[in-house]
Amino acid sequence: MAFNRRLHLYLDKARVQTYPNFVVTFGMGHHTYLNRELASKAPPVEPDRSDRMVELNGVLWLLDAVQRGDLSAERMRKLLVDASAYLSDCCQVCDEIFDEWPKLDANQRAQLEQWERRSASLTAESHPYTLNATETKIHRWDCGTVSEAPPPVYPDRHTYAMRAMYPFDFDDYDSSRSARRITPAEATAWAAKRKRPPRCRTCAPILPTVTSSEASGVASTY
Ligand SMILES: [Zn+2]
Ligand SMILES: [Zn+2]
Repeated sequence: MAFNRRLHLYLDKARVQTYPNFVVTFGMGHHTYLNRELASKAPPVEPDRSDRMVELNGVLWLLDAVQRGDLSAERMRKLLVDASAYLSDCCQVCDEIFDEWPKLDANQRAQLEQWERRSASLTAESHPYTLNATETKIHRWDCGTVSEAPPPVYPDRHTYAMRAMYPFDFDDYDSSRSARRITPAEATAWAAKRKRPPRCRTCAPILPTVTSSEASGVASTY
């Protein structure tokens, strides 16, 4: 992953020189390995930038300014350190969603509010059933073995970014799928696609389309 940063040289109050697209690459693949190898043999540098690479042309441009006396070495070092910092002040993964984060954050909160409004509006009459997450078994709405889960809301950008980037590292990686409260019409449509619609043995829901003889015994769950 690479970023373009703008470098400004403030020569004096009237003159500013800008290097518009100074490329910073964050350690990926063999670069990370190589840089760590080199860094482990090199004297320590603070702050540690062993996983960053920067554009040589930009560095030469800065050195030219040092040579001309327009820029101090101290200021040049600060420019390089600042330009190679994480935008997010956190990590590479957070940088990936840095620009989108306000929108993503607002979205997840809006989804939760939407879920809360929907949840409050459901009744035993309007949505008498719950389908499990994989939609393979139907329950009564009040069955204790299954419930509609709220959409996840991650408290901070880092958690959100890590969850989005490495979903399988999280126990809740499948939480995008949740059980779902459904209407009698939806239950009928779901059951119509199955020969023997699997019903929960615990709550033994009676489906709208089931005839009285079938309703007396709970179907196999498989
Ligand atoms: Zn059940
Ligand atoms: Zn982070």
